[in-house]
Amino acid sequence: MRLNKYILIIYSICLIACQTNTSKQDSSSTGYLKHQTAVLDSDTKNTLKLAYTGNMGVCLEYDDKTVIIDGLHEYYDKPYVYPPESMVNQLIKGEFKNFSKIEFCLFTHLHGDHFSGRYAKRYLESSDEAYVIGSSQLMKDVVTLRTKLDSMSSRFFPVPYNKKAHSFNATGIKIEAIQCDHTNPQRHNKTQNIAYLVNLGGYNILHVGDTDWSLTREPAKTLDIKNKTLDIAILPYWLLLDDSDSSQVNDILAPKHIIATHIPPDFSKRNQNELQERFPNITLLMDLGEVHYFSK
Ligand SMILES: [Zn+2]
Repeated sequence: MRLNKYILIIYSICLIACQTNTSKQDSSSTGYLKHQTAVLDSDTKNTLKLAYTGNMGVCLEYDDKTVIIDGLHEYYDKPYVYPPESMVNQLIKGEFKNFSKIEFCLFTHLHGDHFSGRYAKRYLESSDEAYVIGSSQLMKDVVTLRTKLDSMSSRFFPVPYNKKAHSFNATGIKIEAIQCDHTNPQRHNKTQNIAYLVNLGGYNILHVGDTDWSLTREPAKTLDIKNKTLDIAILPYWLLLDDSDSSQVNDILAPKHIIATHIPPDFSKRNQNELQERFPNITLLMDLGEVHYFSK
């Protein structure tokens, strides 16, 4: 896909003003998405693909439109699954399983279990049509003297951290980005965490990064999530551990399907079963490279 043919716009306005309530829909009445872990090649039409690339990393694809979120990261510490360099290179070259080249690479925040400046630069170098979106805190790791020289820096879009929704569009891909503060603000109040609402082939997918329910409520409202149909919510597992979390999920997001991420390798079978029982529409990402297919 030649992105520079398309208009790429960043709005610094809250898009909620453009929304009406006419699309209001109770997602509990729309049912769950169809979910499979394998499909025949000929059946991938109208299917959303999701590959797990470690920790909160997901690569999403519909037709040839591909977006990766928190997917390019390196070893950080023991409790975090990360992709080997060979997988990163395949993803960047568009050679990973049945996935094509990535149009947008999004990062929620700068922590090493979500972001690698080295890989972000490698991705930007891979094509003139590679775009990175993230907080301005990523800038110093992505936009170096060398990248400035060859204008790669113009393909890094910083998201203003101002509680407003910021929109990035290309043909077939719509992304809204918004401040969604990092969990444990006492310790991480200087870390800017961005939530992303991605629309790919008509599927709405939300990725919240490292956050908590109390910090998610306001950005979800600004994004008007409850008046859109949210197909997939990609959440850190700690938002799902308690019985009260099922009402939080429904109150704030009401997704058709939940993807649990940030799961440590030693996550107990008991915890896994609890999550499965609490949420009938959940997928736990635990095996690096696993691919899931969703259809309506
Ligand atoms: Zn973090």
